[in-house]
Amino acid sequence: MENTNNRKIIIFDTTLRDGEQSPGCSMHLNEKLDVAEALEALGVDVIEAGFPAASEGELKAVREIAGLMKRCTVAALCRCRKEDIDCGYEAVKNAVHPRLHVFIATSPVHLEYKLRIDPETAINMIKTHTEYARTLVDDVEFSFEDATRTPHDFLARAAQTAIDAGATTLNIPDTVGYATPAEMGEIIRYLKANVRGIDNVNISVHCHNDLGMAVANSLAAAEAGANQIECTINGIGERAGNAAMEEIVMAIKTRAEHFGMYTDIVTQRIFNTSKLVSGIVGIKLPPNKAIVGKNAFVHESGIHQHGVMANKATYEIMSPKDIGVPENALFLGKHSGKHAFGELLAEMGYSLTKEQIDFYFPKYKELADRKKEITRSDVDALLAGAFRRKIKRLYTLKDYEVTAYKNSASANISLEADGMIHTDRMTGDGPVDAGFKAINSLTGQNFKLVDYQLHSVSEGKDALGEATVKLISADTGKMMTGKGLSTDVLEASLIAYVNATNKLLQED
Ligand code: MN
Repeated sequence: MENTNNRKIIIFDTTLRDGEQSPGCSMHLNEKLDVAEALEALGVDVIEAGFPAASEGELKAVREIAGLMKRCTVAALCRCRKEDIDCGYEAVKNAVHPRLHVFIATSPVHLEYKLRIDPETAINMIKTHTEYARTLVDDVEFSFEDATRTPHDFLARAAQTAIDAGATTLNIPDTVGYATPAEMGEIIRYLKANVRGIDNVNISVHCHNDLGMAVANSLAAAEAGANQIECTINGIGERAGNAAMEEIVMAIKTRAEHFGMYTDIVTQRIFNTSKLVSGIVGIKLPPNKAIVGKNAFVHESGIHQHGVMANKATYEIMSPKDIGVPENALFLGKHSGKHAFGELLAEMGYSLTKEQIDFYFPKYKELADRKKEITRSDVDALLAGAFRRKIKRLYTLKDYEVTAYKNSASANISLEADGMIHTDRMTGDGPVDAGFKAINSLTGQNFKLVDYQLHSVSEGKDALGEATVKLISADTGKMMTGKGLSTDVLEASLIAYVNATNKLLQED
C-alpha cells in the first residue's frame, strides 16, 4: 500500500553542505559535481550545495552545481549579512530554481554568548535580511538555529517576522540534536496554531543525531505537519551527523499506511548513491547501518533463514531490490572473452562505450589472473571510476620495491610526472610508512596522514583490497581522501596516497 494519503514530503539534501563541512568529509569539486548529479537522479527536491561566503572554492562549487542541475532547486546557505546573501545569490542565480537559505540563531544561549545581541536585534535582522533576500529571489528559506532550545513564544515571533518579510520556507533545526520526537511534534503544532499565514509556506525540519533521534525527530515533525525534511546520504554531518535520508525515505515508504506521506525519491538508486558518497568521503558504513549497511538484509540465524526461505515476509519488511542492492553473484571466470564481459556489464546495468570496454577489459583480465573468482562487487569496484569526473593525475605510481624487517623498512618508489620518472628511497617504521615518506619526498610535500584504512572488497584470501588514505596539508588545512584498489594491499595503499596527494595539489 503506497501513497494512500498523498501528502508529499519535500526532500532537502544537505550532504554537500552540512555533510561536506563535517570532519574528514571534504570533497574535490569534481566529486561534488558527481554527488550533485547522483542526488538529482535520486529524485531529491532541493540540494543545499554549500555555504558560498565561506571561501572562493565553495562559491565556485555552488555556482557549478547550480548550473548543472536540470530540475532540482539549488540552495545556498547565508548568514544574516548582506555580503553573505549577495554571495549566495551570485552562486545560485543561474540555477533553474534558485533558493537563498538565510539563518540566525534564536536560542537564549546563542543570542547571548555567540551573537551577543538581544532578542529585538535578532527580530530586526530576520526582517531586514529576509526582505533583502526576497528582492533577489522568490524562494527564500529562513532557519532559526537552535530552534529546539528557543522558547516557543519567541520562536513563533521569529517565524511570524520571517513570513511577514516574505520567507517561503521556515526551517526548524534541532541544531544540537537535543529534542525528542514528542517535543518536535509539539513545536510544529505550536507554530501552526500561533503563526499567521504558516499554512501558505513550507515547514521544514533539520535534525541532528547527537542522541540517535534525528530520523525519529524528523518523522515526528512531519506527522505534526512539517512538509520538508533536511537530511544527508548515510547521515553524514556535523558531530553525530544529520538525519539519514535513506532511513527517512524507506520509513515513509515501508510504513505508508501509517504515515500517509510519500517522497519523490527513486528508492532503487539509494544503494548506489550511498556507496558513491561513502566512497568519496572515505567513511565506511557500520555493517548494521539501517537500510544501506552490509548486513541490513542478511539473515544469519538458522531460524530466520528457514523463515525467509518459506516466505520472505517472515523477517523481511523491505525488499533489497527496492533499494537497489545488487545480488552478489559470481561474475565470469578468467577465460571469458570481451563479448561476454560486455554483455554481463550491460546486465548489471552498466552502459559502457566500446572504448570503455576496450579500456576495462584488460584490467578485468589482469584481475582475473590474480584472483580465482571474480564477484560482481569486484566488478563494481573496478568500474567505480568509470562514470565519474576525472581528477587530473599530476603523479602516477609507476613502480615500487619495499623491504621490511621487524622495526624498520625501506621503500624505493617511482612516480611519473609530466612524462618523467622520478625515483626516491626512504626508510620508515614499516613498509607503508616508508612508502608514504618516499612519495612525500618525491612530490616535495609535507602532507600528514590523518586516517588510513584497508578493506577487502569481496571475500577470500585473494580478495581485492581497497585502501583509503586521508591526508591534510599543514599549509592550507585542507584535507582530501584518496583510494587505491589492488589485490596487493601495499600497492593499494601507495596508489591511495598518490591519489590523495593529487587532489590536495589541485585547485578545486
Ligand atoms: Mn546542521
